[in-house]
Amino acid sequence: MRVKTFNMLAGAGLLLAIVIPLAVIRTFIGDLSNSQILAEMGPDYELSENTRIRLYSSLSQAEAQTFLKRISEFQDAFFASYGEDFQLSRPDGLQRVIEFDSKEEFSAYARRHMNVSLEHSVGYHNERSSQIVYYANSSAGREEIIFHELVHYNFDAGVDIEEPAWNAWFSEGIASYLERGTIEDGRLVVHEETSELAFSQAFDRSAPDWTRILMLYDARSDDVIGADNTRFYGGSELLVSFLMQHHREGLFAYGVLEAEPRQARPFQLATCCGFETLEQLQEEYDAFLQELTGG
Ligand SMILES: [Zn+2]
Repeated sequence: MRVKTFNMLAGAGLLLAIVIPLAVIRTFIGDLSNSQILAEMGPDYELSENTRIRLYSSLSQAEAQTFLKRISEFQDAFFASYGEDFQLSRPDGLQRVIEFDSKEEFSAYARRHMNVSLEHSVGYHNERSSQIVYYANSSAGREEIIFHELVHYNFDAGVDIEEPAWNAWFSEGIASYLERGTIEDGRLVVHEETSELAFSQAFDRSAPDWTRILMLYDARSDDVIGADNTRFYGGSELLVSFLMQHHREGLFAYGVLEAEPRQARPFQLATCCGFETLEQLQEEYDAFLQELTGG
């Protein structure tokens, strides 16, 4: 089981994600009551809820209800579009969404509950306590942040596995790709296949070169949560974008394997996409990158 934290880059902003062993979390997070959460957040914050979600924020009740509706719409669209493909079942627990107004408040809360510094993150999710925590006043939009974290939550809570073993690139790549989705006729649709951040990674071959698939598998936690983490996010999203366009069924099949501890590895990614070796997949990816960069 894991906790994912993230920052991502929307426009010129900075978002990203973290993987922290749950052992760290277990010690620090209990099941807080509503009044405990509100007391900890401070006098500016209130609880708003619908049947599925509790939102703790400084939004007016009317704004909060609109936002809650939006979250529910995203969840419906996500499961209608991807639940079956990735074999994810809809979690039935009540989700808690904790929105701070400032980075300082967010960081202090994260430090107390996660025992880790999330200086380069705008949000995180903790599947165990069913919490999504973030601050709204960042360069990334509120909606992108919550969509991103909901994707993590759906993957973690939607598999029937005690400790799903998502590789960071897969987890962050999918979340970063789908956070840009729009909801149309109850489906989640990504119109712009490659975001600006992902696109920029196609040109950036400085070390570590995140267009190397093996490099993505070898990412260290500092690559994911450190000050330079946006490149890792871009590289992860770029590979997911390529797979969504050219090996959609392969990506789905691989995603199912990914959840299993010690199952999904680079070789399985290649075979799911119909290749005998990872080098062959990398070659096709390189050709895609070359076309993308007009070279
Ligand atoms: Zn993330």
